[in-house]
Amino acid sequence: MKKEIKGGSEVASVDVVIVGAGFAGLSAAERLVDMGVSVLVLEGRDRVGGRSFSGEVAGVKVDLGATWVAERHTAIRDLAKRLGCSTTGQFHEGLNVLWMAGQRRTWTGTMPMVDPVDLEDLGRVQVAMDELLETIDVGAAWKSPNAEELDSISFGEWLDRQQVVSSTRALMTIVSKVQWGCSPGDVSLLHVLRYIRAAGGLLHMLDVEAGANQDRFVETTQEIANRLAEKLGDRVVLDTRVRRISQDDDGVMVHTDSAVISAKHVIVTAAPEHRSYIEFLPALPEKTQGLTRTWPMGRLSKAFVAYDRPFWRAEGLSGEAVMDTGTAFITFDVSPDNGPGVLMVFCTPSVYDNFDPETRRSRVVQQMVDLYGPQASTPIDYVDHCWGTEPFAPGGPHPAAGPYASVSYGSALTEPHGRIHWSGTETAGEWVGTMNGAVLTGLRTAKQVAQRLGVEGASE
Ligand SMILES: Cc1cc2nc3c(=O)[nH]c(=O)nc-3n(C[C@H](O)[C@H](O)[C@H](O)COP(=O)(O)OP(=O)(O)OC[C@H]3O[C@@H](n4cnc5c(N)ncnc54)[C@H](O)[C@@H]3O)c2cc1C
Repeated sequence: MKKEIKGGSEVASVDVVIVGAGFAGLSAAERLVDMGVSVLVLEGRDRVGGRSFSGEVAGVKVDLGATWVAERHTAIRDLAKRLGCSTTGQFHEGLNVLWMAGQRRTWTGTMPMVDPVDLEDLGRVQVAMDELLETIDVGAAWKSPNAEELDSISFGEWLDRQQVVSSTRALMTIVSKVQWGCSPGDVSLLHVLRYIRAAGGLLHMLDVEAGANQDRFVETTQEIANRLAEKLGDRVVLDTRVRRISQDDDGVMVHTDSAVISAKHVIVTAAPEHRSYIEFLPALPEKTQGLTRTWPMGRLSKAFVAYDRPFWRAEGLSGEAVMDTGTAFITFDVSPDNGPGVLMVFCTPSVYDNFDPETRRSRVVQQMVDLYGPQASTPIDYVDHCWGTEPFAPGGPHPAAGPYASVSYGSALTEPHGRIHWSGTETAGEWVGTMNGAVLTGLRTAKQVAQRLGVEGASE
């Protein structure tokens, strides 16, 4: 798949260069190739998939990045099916474990609350949030009628104003850490509402059954990207960072470390912060530059702990847990059928990433013992991945845009800059932040570019 771009000045000329081989870039490439357009996909990493990345634990393939799909994520589901990848339901039979305020308890349902007072408070906050969600324009949140007000405070400040009890605060902190890779105080209320609205509401965002976490892919999500890249063949070039994009009335020149590629249009799929890796000539308008400055990627880390069998199931536990203290804050059972037991664990980067691998492992395993008992002390294998410390395009799952970042710069997410078009999940309306959203934005920009190229049938 790796194609050498040889040194020298102009070594290639194509209709469209696509920056990034995640789901947005690969989907755009496939659609354009189908329309007879010549493309080159340049990827800075040594692999395709972007925020979809596979690892292995006890011989089982696991998702170190993106994992779940909802029933309604039809774009990524259709793509996966076409490429021979299949889904399996997220296991969730039995009792879940809640570790809060130093107490271990069990619960069932979507919301990890067992105390009636806590449940009532959470219900009250959900009603308040639902009222705000109704007002959000999912296609352009910054154009919502009350956008300025909602973007003027952080999610954390809003929780303060709601005078939430400590358990609601703890739960919303967990939601914030897993969704935006940051604390509620670091992300704007409008940004949070945009993502929750696009995910079909808070319950849909958090649910397994009929929710966003309903299914995962047996072959892993990166395998879908691998198969799509294979289909595209030597149109996908790895280890090739795009350093500069210059354009004039006649076309675009894309500069890498070893080559210059001329094209008629470019599609950039990098997350907003990572757009700043590229020098643009002429320079990007102030609004687009502001976007790259104010939409920093959040940080999230994942670990997988394998046991010879999913022993917690025999004790009536689902393997799903939520914790308000410690390194790990969520677990899920991602064991294969008739194989080892595998727990997927979300970890808080600030108290995890900087430790050496052995310390990270022992911290996670100790928490599994707290949750699942002494049998959890003897895992057969362990693997982890810290997205915030990736050498290239670090961070994820999503940008943690702070107050005023959306109303000030949100419209620059999709506004083309001459012959440069923006794609990637952050530019999606419905399903922003998901693999599904990424695929849809790839298809959208492919159509946009094909129309500008005058490709027959592109407007249909
Ligand atoms: C830990 C984690 C968990 C997640 N869980 C889920 C989940 O369960 N379900 C779900 O739907 N989504 C999930 N996501 C989000 C999902 O991964 C993303 O929404 C989706 O993969 C984004 O695809 P993309 O193509 O838009 O961007 P990316 O996958 O980020 O692809 C962009 C690519 O551009 C490349 N690039 C950037 N700059 C340059 C440059 N200058 N030159 C060359 N290449 C460049 C990058 O290396 C990257 O490969 C998760 C993400 C993470 C990190």
